[in-house]
Amino acid sequence: MADDHTDAYRIDTQLIHAGEPSPRIEGAISMPVFQTAMYEFAGEEGYHAVRYIRLNNTPNHLALHAKLARLEGAEAALVTASGMAAISTALLEVVQPGDHLLIQDSLYGGTHGFVSKLLPENGVEVDFIDLDDPASWAAKCKPTTKAIYVEAMTNPLLEVGDLAAAVAFAKERGLVSLIDATFASPVNFRAAAFGFDVVLHSATKYLNGHSDVVAGVVCGRAPLVERITRRLDYLGGTLDPHACVLLHRGMKTLALRVRHQNALATALAEHLDAHPAVARVNYPGLASRPRHARARELFDGFGGVLSFELDGGLDAAERFMKHTRLAVTAPSLGGVETLVTRPATTSHAGIDPEERRRIGIDDGLVRVSVGIEDAADVIADFDRALSA
Ligand SMILES: *Cc1c(COP(=O)(O)O)cnc(C)c1O
Repeated sequence: MADDHTDAYRIDTQLIHAGEPSPRIEGAISMPVFQTAMYEFAGEEGYHAVRYIRLNNTPNHLALHAKLARLEGAEAALVTASGMAAISTALLEVVQPGDHLLIQDSLYGGTHGFVSKLLPENGVEVDFIDLDDPASWAAKCKPTTKAIYVEAMTNPLLEVGDLAAAVAFAKERGLVSLIDATFASPVNFRAAAFGFDVVLHSATKYLNGHSDVVAGVVCGRAPLVERITRRLDYLGGTLDPHACVLLHRGMKTLALRVRHQNALATALAEHLDAHPAVARVNYPGLASRPRHARARELFDGFGGVLSFELDGGLDAAERFMKHTRLAVTAPSLGGVETLVTRPATTSHAGIDPEERRRIGIDDGLVRVSVGIEDAADVIADFDRALSA
């Protein structure tokens, strides 16, 4: 059903037009919701071809799959019920009992829990690697190693690992390369076109962008996405058609939102970096940051998330967070409203405090996900709260 005339267009145009039904359904300009669980039998062959919401093949799913594949420069795409459904289903397909997985050491909390508990319970061996030290990876490789898994940027320190080395390492050794590209979004980084075999997103964040849907994306090489889709057909982590339509609508403004967020986060990071009460700012867009040159080479923008520490430590951080008026204290990221959170109490609360400090997450570290408000208003809000 997808039209095939949009390959040459840039991402802003693809977000609007790629994968849209052609001809338009009853002339509809926006994607209608197909709120029907099953469809009249039309001679489909095989279980996975039967049209049914759980089998990820309604018109709402197919339109999203076509749009997402085009955006990423991927052969195929799949939407899932959450980012974790995308990550867990993909990993369960790529690494089987007896296989070995190499995975970066600082991970999204849910992924960390999944690979350190559920994968080993399923007979998969897991080793953590430092993504900034490719020379150390070979020693951890085994005859059973099947895949290497990385994230585009780490949370909450926004470090950018050697993604090019990860792709090259996987190609040399015949491993499947997987990347969680949530923090970058396809506007800043097209990971499938860059060379990753499987690209994962929590669409809950930038892709939907309005803090009102939980969804995930798998995209990449067609045979792999096909296998992952069949596994999802059985595991059942399917996105509901209503959520499909919300995601579809949210994605249309992705480029506008992310470019604004890139600019707002850069302005805020520079402002905080020069602020007398701020001890340290983590943002790959700051020219003084260690991996700035690498981030500039990889990405078209540095994203909407940054983190910082105050001279006054934990007390000052708590005082700051109590006094923001615009910025809301809440976990998660990628929405249109600016959010602040203290990772020690949210995303990294499950980690032993000593270990947390060792990996650079101070109790007073504040993470910011900028929204699409006016930069001057957000900066004034931060200044007011910093001097409270
Ligand atoms: C939020 C997030 C996830 C999990 O996504 P859900 O949609 O909450 O399941 C995975 N990876 C990263 C980097 C995230 O930020």
